[in-house]
Amino acid sequence: MPRWFGHVKMGTGKRQDDPGAISSAVEHCFHTAGVSGSIPLSPTKPLQPNLGRTHRKPAQVAHEDDRKMSRSSNPTLRPDAPLDRHNTFRVPARAAWLAEIENPDQIPEILDHPPIRSLPRLVLGAGSNVLFTRDFPGLVLIPRNRGIQVLTTGSGTVLVRAEAGVGWHDLVTWTLDRNLCGLENLALIPGSVGAAPVQNIGAYGRELSHVLESVEVFDCEGGEKRHLDREACELGYRQSRFQKEPDRWIITAIGLRLSLEPSLRIDYPGVREELAALHADPPTARAVAEAIIRLRRRKLPDPDEIGNAGSFFKNPVLTRERFESLRDRFPGLPVFESPSGRKVSAAWLIEQAGWKGFREGDAGVSARHALVLVNHGTATGAQVWSLAQRIQESVRSKFGLDLEVEPQIL
Ligand SMILES: Cc1cc2nc3c(=O)[nH]c(=O)nc-3n(C[C@H](O)[C@H](O)[C@H](O)COP(=O)(O)OP(=O)(O)OC[C@H]3O[C@@H](n4cnc5c(N)ncnc54)[C@H](O)[C@@H]3O)c2cc1C
Repeated sequence: MPRWFGHVKMGTGKRQDDPGAISSAVEHCFHTAGVSGSIPLSPTKPLQPNLGRTHRKPAQVAHEDDRKMSRSSNPTLRPDAPLDRHNTFRVPARAAWLAEIENPDQIPEILDHPPIRSLPRLVLGAGSNVLFTRDFPGLVLIPRNRGIQVLTTGSGTVLVRAEAGVGWHDLVTWTLDRNLCGLENLALIPGSVGAAPVQNIGAYGRELSHVLESVEVFDCEGGEKRHLDREACELGYRQSRFQKEPDRWIITAIGLRLSLEPSLRIDYPGVREELAALHADPPTARAVAEAIIRLRRRKLPDPDEIGNAGSFFKNPVLTRERFESLRDRFPGLPVFESPSGRKVSAAWLIEQAGWKGFREGDAGVSARHALVLVNHGTATGAQVWSLAQRIQESVRSKFGLDLEVEPQIL
């Protein structure tokens, strides 16, 4: 039975250098979502979506509504909502309905609301792994619950519970501030905690699956809250059960088993060199995170500066025979060992096929990293998707390999 230890404010930067102090420090923070133009959910007054209509409320009215919203704990629904700010590709799209929820207990009421009951649903976090190619004709639901808590400590480990609306990197920082190890290689991955299990986020030799203990969900099929243990999540390389049954699960929180003793993974290319440049000897979890942040900032385009969703394609995983026959033809082909087989670099394949830095209109391939498709300004999702399909076709014809897409195409 997990013990609950009390609450302190999140984001204060307060350090607890004594790991033993963790047991008395539980953090919880509720964020008040600023939802402009939204309306309290009222079962007696059905609302109609107005997808395609262009008129909007004046900004001042929206601010009034913001204040009303932030005082209200009722779930709210917003019809015909723009999604531009809710996807890091920054492509235009609208949702027939948008709900931002601060409390998962609000989910049944929202899902049962007559105008949207039979419509398609999409759970969204920060929109850093989706590409909208059209308007979404149903409900977009964004969890905004933002608590982080230590549940138990013992045997050199700490069980941390983080709610779906917490920013992933905020959680990484929170754990490092408390000398907890396990998330350092996953520093600076954009997005929310709730989305992390969906593709079993991973970077620099570590995946969420290494530390994930359990996932709290709302099961839309059974209409109930449930706990899934790690095995039930069926996590693999950038995959999970949640991708296979997207309409069924709304992830509301996750539990992570983190370590008080550092067990660092620093053998990924570039990490040791960066640690040496930081004079981190011996390295700490915080130093590893810092090294990875520096590497990522150098390599990846910042979505705040240029729209993108990180790696657009997964690295193909090949059998030994397949890899060797390909390497005979292309001796420079980079490879990483992985539990599932030999992972070859999709970035290298795309670069060899001549796409790095390519641009057509405002849709393009990053000049910094061939795996990252970008929106230079006014590209639509359909234009980015059309470019992605041309890249897939060209890699298929040059190497005989199918590139699997990483973000969800909507
Ligand atoms: C610059 C950049 C770098 C990146 N680097 C990495 C990297 O190194 N490693 C990596 O793994 N990923 C990386 N990504 C991809 C992305 O950050 C992750 O996939 C992240 O977990 C997505 O979080 P999100 O909140 O933005 O999810 P969204 O994009 O909002 O959603 C992604 C998917 O998860 C589903 N989903 C979201 N929240 C929930 C929920 N609460 N319950 C159920 N389903 C949900 C959505 O329906 C969708 O299918 C990168 C992206 C960018 C832009």
